[in-house]
Amino acid sequence: MSKQILVLPGDGIGPEIVAEAVKVLQLANEKYSLGFELAHDELGGAAIDKYGVPLADETLERARNADAILLGAVGGPKWDAIDPAIRPERGLLKIRSQLGLFGNLRPALLYPQLAEASSLKPEIVAGLDILIVRELTGGIYFGQPRESKVLENGERMAYDTLPYSESEIRRIAKVGFDMAMVRNKKLCSVDKANVLASSQLWRAVVEEVAKDYPEVELSHMYVDNAAMQLVRAPKQFDVMVTDNMFGDILSDEASMLTGSIGMLPSASLDATNKGMYEPCHGSAPDIAGQGIANPLATILSVSMMLRYSFGQAAAADAIEQAVSNVLDQGLRTGDIWSEGCTKVGTQAMGDAVVAALAKL
Ligand code: NAD
Repeated sequence: MSKQILVLPGDGIGPEIVAEAVKVLQLANEKYSLGFELAHDELGGAAIDKYGVPLADETLERARNADAILLGAVGGPKWDAIDPAIRPERGLLKIRSQLGLFGNLRPALLYPQLAEASSLKPEIVAGLDILIVRELTGGIYFGQPRESKVLENGERMAYDTLPYSESEIRRIAKVGFDMAMVRNKKLCSVDKANVLASSQLWRAVVEEVAKDYPEVELSHMYVDNAAMQLVRAPKQFDVMVTDNMFGDILSDEASMLTGSIGMLPSASLDATNKGMYEPCHGSAPDIAGQGIANPLATILSVSMMLRYSFGQAAAADAIEQAVSNVLDQGLRTGDIWSEGCTKVGTQAMGDAVVAALAKL
């Protein structure tokens, strides 16, 4: 039976980078006889323009029925002044929570060819291979109550809530340990247990889950220290597991270790490994429409899709090899360009990966 993939290009550079990733996906589909059928819909600002809401019910239904989803990115200045309840990002949060995509895998892997593009010294980042496991459907981005109001004295105030239940922590901790088991068996759980009650529960539950994984070396780190250690000595980490907001921030930080946020893919998985795959970066309105965005994070997200949702390791490996070969050829988009390399645009980079994949 064919497998359905729903493609949601989104806003800003989303359609540009997704177009390149789709070319790679279609070639992999033919080359490895994967039997994929692709359908397209809108999410975020593009969905507001088409349906009046950032995630239409019919789109959510198509997403539910799909075997995997490929997403670009959402948001942009056009929709910044809109009612916060229907901002583009709300569509993204809703599709993640409605599909139960609680496990967000964000690898930060430095291609040796890009060691010069990192803002850190090559010896600090050479060989870097970290996996950040971020909880994606709980915590402060979803917690209620949340409110902005005007106090009796006329001062404006606002607050958010950071809730985590034991079961939410347990299931993401398991993902962290499972990932550590297939990598180097080191897991660092990041929290703020010296201050936050939710983090104290987080730490206690992670300790309980650890009993089922005696082979994994578990450590705990406060998030402020983790942010510092990521730039001081990032190679000390193998897998990091953390909550929604800390993971959001730390994974952006980790992205710069690899040279550019334009290189970082991600997978968001439910309990059955059905997933939504997207680059870690946003819609980059500052460069949208110029044909200069780096499509590699989105292309590498396709490779994660083949690996995690469809168990197609050979096809996934081939896409990663094709990306590496293109970097060997010296082709670089502006964000990862350095002296002596050839600067190319989004489409030329996508075409080069397709050509490299075809040759494998
Ligand atoms: P951003 O990730 O879009 O951009 C940050 C910087 O990185 C910009 O200078 C941008 O040009 C650059 N950049 C990002 N992706 C790139 C790529 N593929 N190639 C080259 N350069 C790239 O973050 P931002 O500027 O904070 O947010 C812009 C919009 O994206 C906002 O509306 C925000 O809400 C949204 N956003 C969406 C997602 C998502 O859809 N998952 C994630 C983060 C931000």
